[in-house]
Amino acid sequence: MSTAPSYDLVVIGGGITGVGIARDAALRGLKVALFEKGDYASGTSSKSSKLVHGGLRYLEHGEIGLVFESVSERRVQTRVAPHLVRPLPFIIPIYKGAKPGLELMNVGLWIYDSLALFRAPRLHKTFRGTQAALALEPQLRPEGLRGALEYYDCATDDARLVLENAIDARDLGADCHTYTEVTRFERRADGRITGVEIRDRLTGSSSIVTARVVVLAAGAWTDEMIRRFEIPMDRPLLRRTKGVHIVIPRERLPLARAITLISPVDRRVIFAIPWRERTVLGTTDTDFTGSADEVAADADDVQYLCNSGNGYFPGANLIPADVISTWAGLRPLIAAPPNVDESEISREHEVFSRPDGLVIIAGGKLTTYRRMAHEAVDKTLALLGELGEPTAANRANTKDRPLPGAAGLEQTDLEGVAAIGRRLMDTHGLDADTATHLCGVYGMRAPTLAQRITADRTLGERIDPELPYVWAEVEFAATHDLARTVEDVLARRVPLLLVSRDQGLGASERVADVLGKLHAWTPAQRAQMLDEYRAEVALSRRWR
Ligand SMILES: Cc1cc2nc3c(=O)[nH]c(=O)nc-3n(C[C@H](O)[C@H](O)[C@H](O)COP(=O)(O)OP(=O)(O)OC[C@H]3O[C@@H](n4cnc5c(N)ncnc54)[C@H](O)[C@@H]3O)c2cc1C
Repeated sequence: MSTAPSYDLVVIGGGITGVGIARDAALRGLKVALFEKGDYASGTSSKSSKLVHGGLRYLEHGEIGLVFESVSERRVQTRVAPHLVRPLPFIIPIYKGAKPGLELMNVGLWIYDSLALFRAPRLHKTFRGTQAALALEPQLRPEGLRGALEYYDCATDDARLVLENAIDARDLGADCHTYTEVTRFERRADGRITGVEIRDRLTGSSSIVTARVVVLAAGAWTDEMIRRFEIPMDRPLLRRTKGVHIVIPRERLPLARAITLISPVDRRVIFAIPWRERTVLGTTDTDFTGSADEVAADADDVQYLCNSGNGYFPGANLIPADVISTWAGLRPLIAAPPNVDESEISREHEVFSRPDGLVIIAGGKLTTYRRMAHEAVDKTLALLGELGEPTAANRANTKDRPLPGAAGLEQTDLEGVAAIGRRLMDTHGLDADTATHLCGVYGMRAPTLAQRITADRTLGERIDPELPYVWAEVEFAATHDLARTVEDVLARRVPLLLVSRDQGLGASERVADVLGKLHAWTPAQRAQMLDEYRAEVALSRRWR
């Protein structure tokens, strides 16, 4: 085994929490390595509802601190990543007998707006009466409809948010590796952790990496890791709940805004969200005890979401056969007593630092990842001090640092992003659809793609005629977006797995050709990559 250089900290996990920590630590001048056993965001961080939101329903549970933190963070995100975190209008329809009713909900939304210091993307509005509500969203069931409230939160691309954090962490000097599993902790005789053993899952080779502190940011895998590495803990840290989303064709449920629904099945809050060219319904929330590596929707999850949607949109008459795709993820919730309902569990996080040189971060949300990361790095520095190894770090804060797609943006808002789109049309001759798509996904990185399309017009062709993704993005995924496998491309960077009617199977061979050429795959490697992608599609279809 070879011995690798030393780091101040090694981060385990390349979800939003881990990459956020690596980026924050690197920005503060620390020497950091990150290991992710799959792709960036291959865990929960690409399976969320893709919202950067204050969490209106946490208000109901009195979690004012969490809501305040989240709405403040929402504002930061729209500034540092306006291409990725965009305002999205939501409607709450209010029916006869609903609790809270229209007026109380109106008060709740004033509180929500005030916690955002009245700087939400837009202030909420109340629409009284059936016709006013239907004018907003004609698909809603009219019987008993008393009105509706409109408020704003933000939608994001969760996988890309993770990816841009990883890219920036690397630009700042962090050593980040995908498909690299941490298999063991290295310890001194007195138990102090001195590093980790890693295994490259694509080549099978192992090595030891030494570090002064190890940060475990393994999300839903945290307790599995604690058991596997025999870390003494008096209780499981997490209660994991499974959340499923279904994707249906937009024409089956055409929505102009996201809708916040109370499921008629079990009174839980779920969302119907216009997303890409589709409508997404989610999520479920059920306790999960299996392996975090095999999470999938089951037939009950799909039926529950169809039934929940039909309660509000009877004209849609959704049935499982309408479903294009599903995704399922595990919430890494802080463990609460077993008799507490899943939906009541707090989404707040905790950071534990231990005298053996291990920091564990558990819980949290996509929305608050940047603050969580900052706190985890603060605690890491404090632990190093306590262990007699004080480490100098600068005071830089990611709050003021744009993500790569927003770096150099003249106007850090949607108008600034639209200006890139206009440049792609004027300078590179792209059509309006492709230009809008590319600037919306890649921000300031889009001109690099446009240059490739100008040089080779076939790269500007759509991969799926229904969707705006073009072939240049597949190449870019490998050359600039750190994709190493067919699944990396089709599940997270150009996510046909989720939005294409054939879930990207038709394009997968050509994607393998493009990647195979760039990564010099052997025929056997190419075949294996395709098999693995087909297995991923099969997992998402297992409920059928
Ligand atoms: C259904 C659902 C909807 C959600 N919706 C929202 C939302 O709309 N907005 C919001 O703010 N939050 C939302 N969340 C919460 C949010 O998605 C999660 O809190 C967040 O993604 C967790 O990120 P993480 O980095 O902690 O975990 P993960 O993304 O799971 O990352 C952990 C990583 O650790 C890696 N790993 C595990 N073991 C090892 C090892 N031995 N070596 C190396 N790597 C390892 C895994 O492969 C994994 O990639 C939602 C969650 C769910 C489940």
